[in-house]
Order: sequence, then structure tokens, then C-alpha cells
Amino acid sequence: MKICTDAAALHRALARLNRQARALVPTMGHVHEGHLALLRAARKRAPLTIASLYVNPLQFGAGEDFAAYPRTFDADCEAFARAGCDILFCPQERDIYPQGAAAEPVIRSGAKGRMLEGAVRPGHFDGVLTVLNRLFQLVAPSHALFGAKDFQQQFLVRRFAARAFPDLQIVTIPTARTAAGLALSSRHAYLDAAQLARAEAFFPILQELAAQVQRHKGRFVAHANDAKRQLKAAGLAPDYVAIRTADTLDAPRRGCAAGTALVALAAVRLGTTRLLDNLSFAL
Ligand code: AMP
Repeated sequence: MKICTDAAALHRALARLNRQARALVPTMGHVHEGHLALLRAARKRAPLTIASLYVNPLQFGAGEDFAAYPRTFDADCEAFARAGCDILFCPQERDIYPQGAAAEPVIRSGAKGRMLEGAVRPGHFDGVLTVLNRLFQLVAPSHALFGAKDFQQQFLVRRFAARAFPDLQIVTIPTARTAAGLALSSRHAYLDAAQLARAEAFFPILQELAAQVQRHKGRFVAHANDAKRQLKAAGLAPDYVAIRTADTLDAPRRGCAAGTALVALAAVRLGTTRLLDNLSFAL
């Protein structure tokens, strides 16, 4: 695996390899099995795989965990290399934000970037789209892979890429989970064993929420409120729990047709750590 620590090195490596079909896996590092599943899926889609590792200041709000975010470069290199990554791109801030992160004109994620996760983290998705825009420009991938765990993110990325990079294929990969169903996350580094055990209640509550909505063919808000109560009782403080239609992220209409693709989305806080999860299902 070639490690490119700036954009100039990346361009030299890409020019040497001269392969047009290249799959990009953008990450912020502290690699876990979810990231590696994306990388393996990338290898199936293109002869050249590139993982990027960049903790993007623009997607963290004031008072969030940018400074504390786990940075484990050596272990990440080893994990990506073992998974068969061809190029690991670790850009410098000047490569991503030539005018400095604070001065960078941001890409607006719009109303759907301000709901759910975006309502709790104002500007977060603008930061995500801005860094991805730059990574897509620098890498010029044919494919870019994202995890279903960040459902709203992949929704917004698809919509943005369709407009700004129409030839780029966005691929979404299922969420990698522990045996108990907990969605893997780099932020688990912040949790102790007791908190990790408590977090295992999260996904079963989402599964129960989806089952109740299916059973009653609706009552979206009432069941989401039940799930919030269950999360609280399990020691997980919900930031939001919502049922949305999967292809628009809008609240489903009352009486919407059986078979409508829905998604239950939630974020919880465990101490100062936030965890996200979601579950797609059909009404
Ligand atoms: P991050 O490093 O957290 O920014 O995540 C990089 C990519 O990995 C994003 O596309 C995430 O959606 C994806 N990802 C994170 N956790 C998981 C997981 N448990 N399963 C699948 N993909 C994941």
C-alpha cells in the first residue's frame, strides 16, 4: 500500500498507476470492521482502491470532539494495508482547504441537511459535503463508498454527487455490527466496558420500533415516542428518534401504502458520547 501524505504525492501515484476506475473510501480513521467492509466492497468494484484518512475540522461544531477524536495512524495503516488497500491518502489541511478551513466557502446541504442529525449538529453536513467535494476533485474516483450506518449522510452525498459529479457511482454498504447488534463506531473508543454493554440496548429498541410500525401500519410518532422512553430507561439519552421515508427523508404521510420504504433513525448520548443508528424496513 502506498501512503500519500499530500495531494502532490497522490497525483504522482495516480499518474503512475493510470487506472481510470478507482474506488474511494473516505474515512476519519480509527479503523474498525465497518471501514474494512467498505474497503472490501471497493475492491470488488474497481481495480484501484483508495482510502482517505482525514479528520475534517469543518464537520465538527464548537464544543464537539474534534481535538479528542481518536487518531491511530499506525494501526489504521496496518489495517488498511491488510485489507488490500492500494493507496492511503492522508491529505494536509492545505490540500483540502487551500484558504484555511475557516475561510473555505462551504457547500450547503439544504433543508434535509438541517433535520435530524443536522438539527443537533448545525453545519455538520455542510462540512461533510465540503470535504467530500474536495476529495472527489483530488481523487477523481469512479466509485465512492459510504456506510448505511450514517443514513442521512449517504442520502445527502447521493443527492450532492448526482448534481456535482454525475459520473460518480455512490455505493452504500450495510452497517457492520457486533454480535450483539451494536453498530461499530470509532467513537466506541470513548466508552468503557459498562457503557458499551449499555449501548447494546440501542439496536434492539430500533428493531422493536420498526416491528411496531409494521404491525400497526403507521402511528409513526407514537411508536417513536415509545422508543425514546425505552432508550431513556436503558440509560441512553435520545437526541432524536424518527421514522422517515427512505427515498426522501420526509415524514411518511398518514395512510401511506404498505410496502413503502421507511427508515427508523436515532441518535443517543451516553455520557458525552453520541451514537447513531438506523434500520431500513418496508411498511
Ligand atoms: P468515519 O470514519 O466515521 O467518518 O466513517 C467513514 C465511513 O465508514 C462512512 O461512510 C461511514 O458511514 C462508514 N461507517 C462507519 N461505521 C460503520 C459501520 N459500523 N458499518 C458500515 N460502515 C460504517
